[in-house]
Amino acid sequence: MSDYIVRATALEGKLRAFGTITTGLVEELRNRHNATPVATAAMGRAATVGAIMGIMLKGKDRLTIQVKGNGPIGQIVVDANAEGEVRAYCTNPQVDLPLNSIGKLDVAGAVGRDGFLYVIKDLGLKEPYRGSVEIISGELGEDFAYYFTQSEQTPSVVGVGVLVDRDYTVKVAGGFILQLLPGVTDEEISYIEEKLSQIPGVTSLLSEGTTPETILERLIPGEVKFHEKVPVRFRCSCNRERLEGVLVSLGAEELRSMIEEDQGAELVCSFCKDKYFFSSEQLETLIDQIQQK
Ligand SMILES: [Zn+2]
Repeated sequence: MSDYIVRATALEGKLRAFGTITTGLVEELRNRHNATPVATAAMGRAATVGAIMGIMLKGKDRLTIQVKGNGPIGQIVVDANAEGEVRAYCTNPQVDLPLNSIGKLDVAGAVGRDGFLYVIKDLGLKEPYRGSVEIISGELGEDFAYYFTQSEQTPSVVGVGVLVDRDYTVKVAGGFILQLLPGVTDEEISYIEEKLSQIPGVTSLLSEGTTPETILERLIPGEVKFHEKVPVRFRCSCNRERLEGVLVSLGAEELRSMIEEDQGAELVCSFCKDKYFFSSEQLETLIDQIQQK
């Protein structure tokens, strides 16, 4: 299965649902960042939820998620847009921890607590939308559910998982989000809660070949209406021009010392790890630009 997100509704529009498979995206993140299994799982879970949150946006809108706990992974940053394009990085992709008490990758240990989950949405308005909640678990699924409920006032269930294979590549990744809108009955909620407690985890289902659509149908009472299906992919928006802007912002003095000490500058994009080299000559041109201002 290649990566996609499917959007669905059920219960006469009182329930909004999203299902996704993101194996390719998370494997690309692992590969680009040379990430350990636990860093891959943490970054992959955040990127999977980010991909779905991107699809909740419209047109050219975009969002950034920052997870800043006190754990050894540092900060996790995810960018996503309405077209299914996602990129992500974490401060320390080399973090390595023993498996947790139930024998799983210790995502909560890597992320830590005593911190916040931030969501910044660029909706094309003057000021971006900003929401944040305290990190309550560090496993991320629960934290995003808390975010939707607290910050966006939409009670939600978030299931997200990354299964890393024996050779450390990503075997499967994906997830779902169910959002309860006003009018959902207690009976309908109980039905969903019961199903959630019964079905295997997302990664078990996906590795058996269960589609995101079928996962949603197994959780939701009644008919599930599927709407658009959007492909998901890694995409970084960095380019040489933007990095020239970064260099210019450092100022002429800093650029001169780069020429003297390193005979140029090599910049690495945090998100995609692509490298950009600027020769002394190219730096001189940027210095001229600064001085002409
Ligand atoms: Zn990049």
